[in-house]
Amino acid sequence: MSTHDLVIVGGGPAGLTAGLYAARARMDVVLLERLSPGGQVLTTDVVENWPGDVEGVSGFDLADRMRDHALKFGLEIKSAEITKLAADGNMKVLSTPDGELRAKAVVLAVGAQPKKLGVPGEDLLIGKGVSYCGTCDAPFYREQTVVCFGGGDTAAEECVFLTRFAKKVYLVHRRDELRAAGVLAERVMNNPKIEVLWSQVPLEIKGVDKVEAVRLKKLKDGEEYDLPCDGAFVFVGTSPNTDFLRGVMDMDRQGFIIHDRNQHTSMNGVFAAGDCCSKLLRQIVVAAGEGAVATYAAQRYLEEVHE
Ligand code: NAP
Repeated sequence: MSTHDLVIVGGGPAGLTAGLYAARARMDVVLLERLSPGGQVLTTDVVENWPGDVEGVSGFDLADRMRDHALKFGLEIKSAEITKLAADGNMKVLSTPDGELRAKAVVLAVGAQPKKLGVPGEDLLIGKGVSYCGTCDAPFYREQTVVCFGGGDTAAEECVFLTRFAKKVYLVHRRDELRAAGVLAERVMNNPKIEVLWSQVPLEIKGVDKVEAVRLKKLKDGEEYDLPCDGAFVFVGTSPNTDFLRGVMDMDRQGFIIHDRNQHTSMNGVFAAGDCCSKLLRQIVVAAGEGAVATYAAQRYLEEVHE
């Protein structure tokens, strides 16, 4: 069992920034990441609202640069999945399938993952036409027809990206106004390959070995119909990767972690940052900022409680 002053869980922009700040402050720190560092940014084609990158930066490059930046200051990154977090006096015990780690303070930057629609056919056809990442899967739909669901920033960005390959992109939204930021919504509305189907909801994704159609319902008159397509892309929001923390700390109804203005959770010595947090705006720049605050607050906590 190893013991550290600070353990950071998660290697997206929040975790890597927390790690950069901790390593630069010469803290005894380790960052644990389930797969490889980067997080959801890895599935983003171009990030165009990272300040200073005027021309935009590929999600992959940005994640790479963030990891390299933290490594430059000596951050230790290990591959491990945390399955349980518990308190033992002032210490925190983190369980992994390979054993336990102990920490005086923890930063949780565990991120979020795409939500499912929850309609029949969805689970059955994942990887057979149902996808949650346009940036990853768009090239499979060259000259084909795809249907996207959602109305937020992700749906808008991914729909536009899909038009590079697909001949037709339907965007099904449950209301008659997009939630996406103005500039992204404009790109959707101005793209001749995209047709928005307003005030409609999915009832089923149909197909045997691959997606063949989606069954939709028009909310205004109740009409139901099948829309033939080759792919169904789901962009209806995210849910936090916090199942292993249930009952351990305060969360909102959707499982996002509640914290104070210094990222301190209801569990003493445990801080949270990034998309797993309960808040208004989930953006890379916010995640990075919260990662910095979480580490700084953890440092102060260590000075006050453990020195
Ligand atoms: P989101 O902002 O939560 O939007 C989810 C969309 O899906 C909403 O339009 C919602 O409709 C719709 N929806 C939710 N549940 C649905 C269901 N069961 N059936 C049909 N439609 C459903 O999620 P997101 O677009 O994935 O974005 C997540 C966060 O990442 C946001 O904070 C966003 O700003 C951020 N983000 C930022 C960028 C960027 O800055 N470039 C890019 C991507 C994501 P309603 O509108 O009716 O609620």
